[in-house]
Amino acid sequence: MVCAPSKTVIRGEPPLPTDSVNAFYKAMPIRRRVFVLGDRETRSAFKSDLRGRDIVSAKDLSRDELELVFEVADDVLANSSAYSAVLRGRRVALLFVEPSTRTFSSFYIAARRLGGDVLPLNEPEMTSLTKGETLYDTLKMLEGYGVDCIVMRHPSRGAARFAADVVSAPVINAGSGSQEHPTQAILDVYTILKKRGEVDGISLGMLGDLRFSRTVPSLAYLVSNFDDVELHFIAPSALQVRQEVELYLNDRNVKYTKVTRQQDIPDAISRLDVLYVTRLQKERFPDPSEYERLKGSYRVDMDMLRYAKTSLGVMHPLPRVDELDAEIDRTPHAWYFDQASYGLPTRMAIFALVVGEAR
Ligand code: ASP
Ligand code: ASP
Repeated sequence: MVCAPSKTVIRGEPPLPTDSVNAFYKAMPIRRRVFVLGDRETRSAFKSDLRGRDIVSAKDLSRDELELVFEVADDVLANSSAYSAVLRGRRVALLFVEPSTRTFSSFYIAARRLGGDVLPLNEPEMTSLTKGETLYDTLKMLEGYGVDCIVMRHPSRGAARFAADVVSAPVINAGSGSQEHPTQAILDVYTILKKRGEVDGISLGMLGDLRFSRTVPSLAYLVSNFDDVELHFIAPSALQVRQEVELYLNDRNVKYTKVTRQQDIPDAISRLDVLYVTRLQKERFPDPSEYERLKGSYRVDMDMLRYAKTSLGVMHPLPRVDELDAEIDRTPHAWYFDQASYGLPTRMAIFALVVGEAR
């Protein structure tokens, strides 16, 4: 039986115990991946920094690690059949304690295409959490089943970090309340790379509910790895980006502006290479009357885009409600459907690097 590698160090966190194999990997320089593609058994092998690692926050990923994920994602797209056994003998649990269609299905399909076994726990009645079982007990039970990786979505901030602390298998955060959604940000940055050719020098606008969206902080953290990035947070004050995001960007000397007044939007739009739109996160509003007040307070349509560069790409993590006009779908500005499709190769790459077979 193949055992999951135990965890290596997470940057910014106290080191976790490492076994000698992980110590060996750690001592090797970055970019120590060994590709064995298209051999007789069509197996791929990876030895990477990400092996055995939790992906809890986008802050945990360096530019090198991100570029490694992208390199593997490119290879997945070019040589998909070479990946069919990368997770052979590995079991991945998908513990989704919050609704999801896209993220759940792309993780599910990604693990299956790599030849892994999937334990889907996405119906409330399939876990005992609704019967009052603690998250701790649920995680320990999964660990007892010998799962090699846990992908978890949970409505609480901090849930993914908690899970990573209590189980030895790697934990991939598929959304932790309003806090973060790191794999969404990975596919977002991959989309920018595929569509624009590079991330350096980007002027990236984020528009909508920046306060309760979890994709926004994760994307801001990830792009802070690149050079000469400029961020424009376009939202009324009540929906502006959270202070924790600003503090992080200040710390990393990333330039950003907050655009709160309607009359400043055209000028901001005219500067952008990419506009990332998010829906109002209704489920996370502590006060329903505040949601009612802000509902319909922003909408991106062709009229707004008349100020934009012709090359502007519009992105959206989906699902959309009414904040992004369908007339944009027919224009070259619409990057969001391609963006959604990049969820699969990037998640396959993440699985391959974190839990894939190495030798
Ligand atoms: N919650 C959204 C959905 O169900 C997005 C996601 O899954 O990430 O599609
Ligand atoms: N799908 C994304 C998420 O799960 C965005 C959204 O739901 O609005 O956070």
